[in-house]
Amino acid sequence: MNKGRIVKGIAGFYYIETENTNIYECKAKGIFRKDNIKPLVGDVVGIDIIDEEKKLGNITEILPRKNLLIRPPVANVDQAVILFAIVKPNPNYNLLDRFLIMMRQQNLPVIICFNKQDIASEEEQKELYDAYEKCGYKVLFISVKEEKGLDELKELLKGKTTTLAGPSGVGKSSLLNKLVPDAQMQIGELSRKIERGKNTTRHSELFYVKELSKGGVHTFVIDTPGFTSLGMFDLTTDNLMNYYPEFEAFEPECRFGGCSHIAEPDCGVKRAVEEGKIAKVRYDNYKVLYEELKNMKPDYGKKTR
Ligand code: GDP
Ligand code: ZN
Repeated sequence: MNKGRIVKGIAGFYYIETENTNIYECKAKGIFRKDNIKPLVGDVVGIDIIDEEKKLGNITEILPRKNLLIRPPVANVDQAVILFAIVKPNPNYNLLDRFLIMMRQQNLPVIICFNKQDIASEEEQKELYDAYEKCGYKVLFISVKEEKGLDELKELLKGKTTTLAGPSGVGKSSLLNKLVPDAQMQIGELSRKIERGKNTTRHSELFYVKELSKGGVHTFVIDTPGFTSLGMFDLTTDNLMNYYPEFEAFEPECRFGGCSHIAEPDCGVKRAVEEGKIAKVRYDNYKVLYEELKNMKPDYGKKTR
């Protein structure tokens, strides 16, 4: 049996990269449908090669998963890197917080990476650093253009499988080009087979990072599609504050037990925001999400699961 990893799945076809870096187009036989398991990008699978020349095969088994994410649907990942630009475009804090909440709900560590350091001011960087470092995230500033901070990022990626996400325009393709300069080769052959007029940008794709894979170490990056649907599950006005860990230290100073830190008087969290101990961007965003959740139908979260 040959073993490999699913790099892409489109319309019932799965593309599997084996250890010798060949890519096989495979179908999953009915066994998975019966067990109600859908092969995912990142899955390690066993394949039967049907045609070595045409690189065709069948998936025969899915090896046990280390974990699986629902959003994006990928398996066996160690961490997420969320890429934003410091400026051009300015960060969409709402999107960033949604992403952070989503990953925390799925127990995945997140590295926040801010790109375009070369065109940002010190103050702009400090504001972002203070806001997100305070809530316990690893925060990196990079410039893909000037190749700054990339070594530190690479060090964090080494030996791991990382999902990479970010809104458009932040430099995600540029970063991927640096990490996987042979991506065109890895996917070139592939995409010729699968393009067939289909929209392939909605799909996640796994890349082997050769530069960071030496001496038994294997490094993968999964390029995940844009932020079109960043719905959150099981989030309520009551538990939203749990995703803002930097509030906790100030909650004992709230006059009311169960304070939502929105309209209540004498609120320790609001005071901390005024005193600059909690980042205003985070608190403002908390309020936006709170209002959004308040106006949702009560069963919204469960339905979208
Ligand atoms: P994507 O939409 O996230 O894939 O972004 P791209 O990689 O296509 O980059 C969007 C634009 O930002 C392009 O014009 C890039 O040249 C530019 N860009 C990417 N990285 C940097 C950077 O570090 N600094 C600056 N100044 N521009 C960058
Ligand atoms: Zn309060």
